[in-house]
Amino acid sequence: MDDQLLLPSLMRRAEQLYGDREVVSRLPDKALHRYRFTDFARRAKQLTLALQRMGIGPGDRVATLAWNHYAHLEAYFGIPSAEAVLHTINLRLPTDDIVYIAAHAEDRVLLVDEALLPLLEQVRERTHFERIVVMLATKPVPDGMLDYEQLLAAENPDEFEYPEFSERTAAAMSYTSGTTGRPKGVLYTHRALVLHSLGLALAESEGITSRDKVMPVVPMFHVNAWGMPFVAVMMGADLVMPGPHLDPVSLIDLLERERVTVTAGVPTIWLGILSTLDNSTQRPDLTNLRSMLVGGAAAPPSMIAAFQERHGLKVIHAWGMTETSPLGTVSILPRELAAAPAEEQLLSRARQGPPMPLVEIRARGETGVVPWDGRTPGELEVRGPWVAKAYYRGEENDSRFTDDGWFRTGDIATIDATGSMQIQDRIKDVIKSGGEWISSVLLENALMAHPAVAEAAVVAIPDPKWQERPLACVVLRQGESATGDELREFLGKDFPKWWLPEQYAFLQAIPKTSAGKFLKSALREQFSPAREAQGPQ
Ligand code: ADP
Repeated sequence: MDDQLLLPSLMRRAEQLYGDREVVSRLPDKALHRYRFTDFARRAKQLTLALQRMGIGPGDRVATLAWNHYAHLEAYFGIPSAEAVLHTINLRLPTDDIVYIAAHAEDRVLLVDEALLPLLEQVRERTHFERIVVMLATKPVPDGMLDYEQLLAAENPDEFEYPEFSERTAAAMSYTSGTTGRPKGVLYTHRALVLHSLGLALAESEGITSRDKVMPVVPMFHVNAWGMPFVAVMMGADLVMPGPHLDPVSLIDLLERERVTVTAGVPTIWLGILSTLDNSTQRPDLTNLRSMLVGGAAAPPSMIAAFQERHGLKVIHAWGMTETSPLGTVSILPRELAAAPAEEQLLSRARQGPPMPLVEIRARGETGVVPWDGRTPGELEVRGPWVAKAYYRGEENDSRFTDDGWFRTGDIATIDATGSMQIQDRIKDVIKSGGEWISSVLLENALMAHPAVAEAAVVAIPDPKWQERPLACVVLRQGESATGDELREFLGKDFPKWWLPEQYAFLQAIPKTSAGKFLKSALREQFSPAREAQGPQ
């Protein structure tokens, strides 16, 4: 049968089979809100009907400005069920970018958290939403806006009919965070998101089942929270949503209290959780937590090992991008290494791993596609049914897609004989010293393995002789000390001399991007030309 792969069908399944599953959300006032999938489906249907009553239909863009919670989950299904496009706006972007992407996407309606009204106020005059709907309102909504609850209450969910339309219809869109230049839009079809959800449910990736309790720490405004809400609804897994409370103590509390089995987020979140766990005298009971999915930036091997050895927690390392929905590769220990020494297993798990089923990877060097020898670097290219074939409205399409239909990632990677990929760097972050490349990622990972180092980011600074040299920006653990000379000596064990940074800057914190990754462009700006005062210590 030529059945169409549609998000509403996932919701229908959840309704039929898993009505009793729970969605737990932490609200801005820290109270926990709980309801069941039956309530979720009823309210998502009401949202679809309310949007249709406003005149929203096929292809219209409906934006959200919201944290992770149940109403945002309703938007994840209610908007695409109206054949409209869910546009999750990244609330951590600079306000100029928010204004730009709302206009670029031509968003007609905005669903916004009451807690984010002050942010909306900063951009309101420069945006043109026809309607603004306030979610999680605790008091009357401002003049000219609508209350989400009142909107839903006016609709009879029995009037909702599960729609049939082409699976190639756009269901959602995200913008890249645009660390270089303007953010670019990426559309996801229903088909792509359903297939991506199936991918997440495979035992060879996250293996999400109806026995899981899934907590996406990665925000729902960042590449669909990596597809976690979709797969949880599809498989009938409970969902735990942290709301705006993303500090380590609140997260650990939720993981323990709700007995979460699977969670997902960027490395900086887990580095924070690791140091809190290391320093806490009372051990939380995290025995239910079977997997922590880490991606978005390289997971330091020392962090993977520390979670395993000190806390019995398993990190699964994955790679992906806004343009790949996002999951492209997942690092699962191959059976050949099942009995290998722990160190060898760690090296394998710390790689970004082989491509998921249906996804293909290759890397291209100066003279063409590089061999899978684990040594030769090239720009990673990717293709597959959940990889974008173009940017929305065409920006940079010519330079980012190859003639034979692959997406050029801008990442430099090696691929080994088993097809396992390792990111060496981003093209824009790699350090070009004397005509050779130094991987900032490998240096950072090594620095973060030093017992005194909490966080490290290595960036290129201009150098008259070598063109560029690495500068190591380091945040020390509380109560620990280390000098530049000590760190340099420590690195010397693993790297050739010309790789070793001469300069070390000790910072209170590393600036982060809107997705919580190290913001290396800010460090480059801060330290170029390098300040003498920050030299070797
Ligand atoms: P941005 O980082 O610009 O906000 P994305 O969220 O789409 O945009 O991030 C995609 C990029 O993140 C990739 O191109 C890659 O450089 C980096 N990345 C993602 N996962 C990993 C990983 N596991 N290891 C190293 N880098 C990663």
